Parts: sequence; structure tokens; C-alpha cells
Amino acid sequence: MSEFLIRNADIADLDDLSTRTRDILIADGRFKKIAERIELDECPGASVIDAHNMLALPGFTDCHSHVYQTFIKGPLDDLVITDWLVRLFKFEESMSDEDYYYATLLSCLSAMRFGTTTINEMGGYEHLDATLKAFEDAGIRTTFGISTTDVPENEVTPIISVDEAIRRSEEVYKKTHGRNNGLMRASVAPAGLPAVSGEMAKALKAWANERGLIYHTHLGEGKMETERVAREYGLNGEAEALEYLGILDEKTLLAHSIWLSDHELDIIARTKAIPVHCPNTNMKISDGIPKIAQMLQRGIPVAMGCDGEASSATKDMIREGKAGSYLQKAITLDPTVMDAGTTFKMMSINGARALGYEDLGAIKEGYQADLVLVNMEDDLSLTDRDHRIGNLLYAGTGHAVDTVFVAGSLKVRNKKIQNFDEGYIIRKCNDMIHELNVRTGYVKED
Ligand SMILES: [Zn+2]
Repeated sequence: MSEFLIRNADIADLDDLSTRTRDILIADGRFKKIAERIELDECPGASVIDAHNMLALPGFTDCHSHVYQTFIKGPLDDLVITDWLVRLFKFEESMSDEDYYYATLLSCLSAMRFGTTTINEMGGYEHLDATLKAFEDAGIRTTFGISTTDVPENEVTPIISVDEAIRRSEEVYKKTHGRNNGLMRASVAPAGLPAVSGEMAKALKAWANERGLIYHTHLGEGKMETERVAREYGLNGEAEALEYLGILDEKTLLAHSIWLSDHELDIIARTKAIPVHCPNTNMKISDGIPKIAQMLQRGIPVAMGCDGEASSATKDMIREGKAGSYLQKAITLDPTVMDAGTTFKMMSINGARALGYEDLGAIKEGYQADLVLVNMEDDLSLTDRDHRIGNLLYAGTGHAVDTVFVAGSLKVRNKKIQNFDEGYIIRKCNDMIHELNVRTGYVKED
């Protein structure tokens, strides 16, 4: 495996927003040494990267994702949720193995281009092999589970039995867990209680526990659906129902977590389950605003996610973090909440811990080398070397990211994806997306 000696990087301290200039040696996929000066004699085979004026941050963890949706972000713009869901299923049905492969690849590459090094994916079972191959080819760190449902929310919800959900989870586990030199891990990912029976939720949780896997689900995303679940369980909310079913613990990730009572926030804090904040989706499809500030106040280590691009339209974690921070400041009338350091931690170490990594999410000796470098002196909007971390979050976007490593492997350099012909991928995907739009009847043939 290649070694890299990164010279004079300004490593971000997310506690006090200061930086310290250090050399970083990456070897065997890890931060082998971090010091004021590392001589090339110590690592004669290393490639040297000059990181003068570059801010170094841990790689971002996108903790709630549906990557194949990158092919269907346009046709789902500005729709009410019922129409949005029907159209989503129509597009999913119309996509081929090749569509899934290239959609997954495109989304992973754009996520990495913007500094994301880990994706927690709630994927589909159809086209599984093509999807997993694309994650492997992209080389991004991945936790992968399939969305399962057994309660019809509408006439197009795909329903399977509990036994079939377990069988599919077994297959995903065999095909995913440990793949790509351990970069890929399996999870279970039942869609959420509005579309999942208590029996399926409990069976998948028990199955995941036997293997030490993450349970990844939606929680409290739609107001009406949340109220329906509460009524069905005779409880006050969806998180109460998950607690009743025994689902909530530190291995459970709860995407959105919007429609929760203060009592349910206490339940989440006590059980150590992890909410995943996806603000762009929450705003764009009018889900509502989660109580992130109150969660943080209770010490809940909230993670962040870009969700699917059919609802968020972006895989840019910096934009996601900024949106979340602004939204919480506005809703609480408190500008101190989700400060830049807290937000970057939600985008990195909180996500890594949520996914079960003890050696990921920070730039520390011995940790896995998932790293982002941002050149702070080639962008007019980022100018001010005394306030780099805040400026990157509030004034920047993922386009500012210059260099990205995943497990010590160089993925982005000089703002270009490595190992792929970006121009070819863009042309190919443009053509495929256009054909898909025509095939589904939402765009007329040329
Ligand atoms: Zn989702």
C-alpha cells in the first residue's frame, strides 16, 4: 500500500477552532505519525504532498443515504410527498442493473469529491450485485443495508415477509461484510415503522445483534405517518414504539427524527440511539424541523446525512452541515447552537462512532486515514486565515475540497477524482439519465 508524507497541513481543532501546522505520515491505511517535522529518510518510498495553506479535517461521514437516487433528482423536484413516493417507485422500477451501477458510482464519486469518505447506505435489494460492485469500484467506506417493508403505505409499496427480509439480509451480509479489504460492512435497514411491522423490526434487530451490526431506519419523518404509528401502538410517538419493541440502543441509527416529543428525546438520550440529521431533505420535501439543538443539549451525539438526492439534491456534506446549523439557529433563536466545531464533529467523529468505528473520524496517530484537505488560499470566498473552520462551513461548499484519502488511499487530488475519467462518467451518466427520463415518460424524446 502506498505511503504519503503530507507536509505542513493545518490540522483543525474542532474544540476551539484553532489549527496546528503538522506533517502527517500515512502508511498501511492509517495516520502513522503526526509531528512538526517528519524527514523523508523515515519514509523513503512515500509520495510527498505539499499541504501548505491547507486545512486538514477528518473525512466526512454521510450517515443516511440512498445513492441510486442521484439519477432521479430532477423529476422529483417540488412534489408533495404522496406524488413524490409514487414517482420514486416508478423510476426505481424503470432502472436497469447498469442504471444502478452508474447511479451508485456517480453518487459515491461526487460525495468523495466533496470530502465524504463514509456512506451509510439504505439501499435496494433489486440490482444488489450491480450496486455493491459500484461501491467497491468507487472505493468509498460503506455500511450497506437494504430497505425492507411489510406494511403497505400505498399501492406501490414493495411488501416482503419477515422470513424473506431475514433471507435477504443474510445474502447482503455474505456479499458485503468485510468486502474491499474491510471497507464495506453490512447492516439491516428496515424503512421505518410506518411501513414496517413490529414483528419485522424485532426480527431484524435480533438478527443484527447476533452479528454486531447496525440497525439503520427512518424515524418520525412524516407528521401524519408518525401520528398513525403512535395510534396503532397506543403510545405517544414513533420513538416510544421503537423503545417498546426493544430496538433502541447505541447500534441504532435514526434518520430524520423530526416528530418527537421531549419525552422521546429523553428516551433517545437514555438508550444512546443516534439520530441522523438530514436538513436539506427535511426542508426540500417539507418534512419539518427536528429538535437537534435540544438533542445536543441532552448530550446526544447526533450524526449527519445527505439522504437520497431525490429529496436533498446534493451529496455535499458541507452544504448539509451549513443548512443544519442555520436551520437550528433560526428555529431556536439562538445563534450559538450547532457552532462550526460541533457541526464538523457531527459530520465526522459522531458518524464514525455511530457506525461502530473506534479508530475513525479524527486525525490522530493510529486512526484510519480518512482525510480531507482544503486549500484555503485559492478561493476568494474563504479568505481569512484566522477563521478557517467557520469560513469553510459558512462560506464554503464541497467544491473547496482539494484532496481526499479513504483508508490511506488517494481518491481526490487537485479537486479531481483519481482513478476515473470524470469527463467520461459525466457524459455516460448524462446520456443514461436522459434515456431514463424518456423511458419513464416524464421527458419527451429529442
Ligand atoms: Zn431516507
